[in-house]
Amino acid sequence: MSNRVVVIGGGIVGVTTAFFLQRAGLQVTLIERRSGVAQECSFGNAGVVAPGYVGPWAAPGMAAKVLSMTFQAHRPVRWHPRMSTAQWSWLRAWWRACSAERHNSNRARMQRLALYSRELLLQIGRSLQLDYEQRTGYLQLLRTPKEFAAAQAHAAKLTELGIRHRLMDAAEAREHEPSLNPDTLLAGALHLPDDFTGNCALFARLIRSQAQALGCELRFGEAVDAIETSDSRVTGLRVRSVLGQDARLGCEHVVVAGGVGSAALLAPLGLRVPLLGIRGYSATTLIHAPEHAPRESVMDEHYKVAVTRMGNRLRVAGTAEIGARGDTHNRLALETLHKVLQDWFPAASRSSTATYWHGDRPMLPDGAPLLGETPVAGLWLNLGHGSSGWAMACGSAQITADLICGNAPGIDLDGLRWARYQ
Ligand SMILES: Cc1cc2nc3c(=O)[nH]c(=O)nc-3n(C[C@H](O)[C@H](O)[C@H](O)COP(=O)(O)OP(=O)(O)OC[C@H]3O[C@@H](n4cnc5c(N)ncnc54)[C@H](O)[C@@H]3O)c2cc1C
Repeated sequence: MSNRVVVIGGGIVGVTTAFFLQRAGLQVTLIERRSGVAQECSFGNAGVVAPGYVGPWAAPGMAAKVLSMTFQAHRPVRWHPRMSTAQWSWLRAWWRACSAERHNSNRARMQRLALYSRELLLQIGRSLQLDYEQRTGYLQLLRTPKEFAAAQAHAAKLTELGIRHRLMDAAEAREHEPSLNPDTLLAGALHLPDDFTGNCALFARLIRSQAQALGCELRFGEAVDAIETSDSRVTGLRVRSVLGQDARLGCEHVVVAGGVGSAALLAPLGLRVPLLGIRGYSATTLIHAPEHAPRESVMDEHYKVAVTRMGNRLRVAGTAEIGARGDTHNRLALETLHKVLQDWFPAASRSSTATYWHGDRPMLPDGAPLLGETPVAGLWLNLGHGSSGWAMACGSAQITADLICGNAPGIDLDGLRWARYQ
């Protein structure tokens, strides 16, 4: 094979893929339509790397739970029904994937990948001495006895996976994280000492520099309009610059890692990928009283909102909006983020310093990403990482490099390949 590979997309998934491919000895070109890496969904996420919590949103009882929350002011999921075939067929497929059997097998696939990925991320960080504002430890806050009971069941699964954890009652949790507001009701917490958080966008920029130093070509401000094929084989790309100039780039190997933009590139080739962008929000504030800020990252299980300490800032991130349109922030979603911050760490930072962000998670209905070859020779996928793209990026990138180089991947890829949609 020719050793030139083009990676489409400079989010966390694409940029780590470019790095792993270049490190494997291939000549890589990364094409990104924005002016740099991690400027879409990988920009302002929560930064959590917690493999035991990685899993599909399609879960038993989830549909009823989402509907029951419809009239709550602060709710983790908001749905805007649209006259859109894509939205309805995605929801139908999501609903079908909610059975216990499918949920369990999809979760096992995602956790296998996330555990593999965490090791690679730690290894790379150590070997390249990268500082991406990482912080060890993750505390899941359980507000109600019902959430505590669910965490007990989850703890048993973590034991099966060999993930270290400790279930704490409220007093132990408050002793462990003294900055928690004593006035907010707490039933208990689940602590995961080996999980961690880090600044995903910062890591993306650091790994981009590493890829570049190895010889990777970076082309920013260029959008891929089409993937060209002949006899079911990739022959090149049609690329448009920000100035509107069209060009053709000949190549035999392409990795599609374009987040929510991937489906539009694949559809003309007859490859229908049911990707939907599920919007999430974050608010980032300056810490002004470090003693009142969390030492470790926490996840409010009730609102599914994470509070992460990144350098001298606090990142509050979460919520899911299905059918969001336009580029404006949903005020109600931002209010939910502020409520969680106020509930737990009211004195840590001032809301007047907050900067806001939203990103569209590239989500497949059954949750697990799609990796590897396609029926078109030379066309490879690395997409659909949904709510866990940062946690799964390094593993997915290494697997992509192994497959393209003809090496055996480091984990079983059952249910993560294109065959799942055939
Ligand atoms: C609020 C929120 C919190 C989150 N928290 C976490 C978390 O704690 N842990 C975690 O693991 N994950 C988290 N996620 C999910 C994570 O952010 C995503 O899974 C991840 O960023 C997806 O990365 P990506 O590279 O696939 O997509 P993106 O980052 O969106 O990158 C895709 C890139 O492809 C480019 N592109 C698309 N089409 C083209 C084209 N035709 N030509 C050229 N370029 C193109 C885009 O410009 C974009 O830069 C969170 C997401 C949100 C919204």
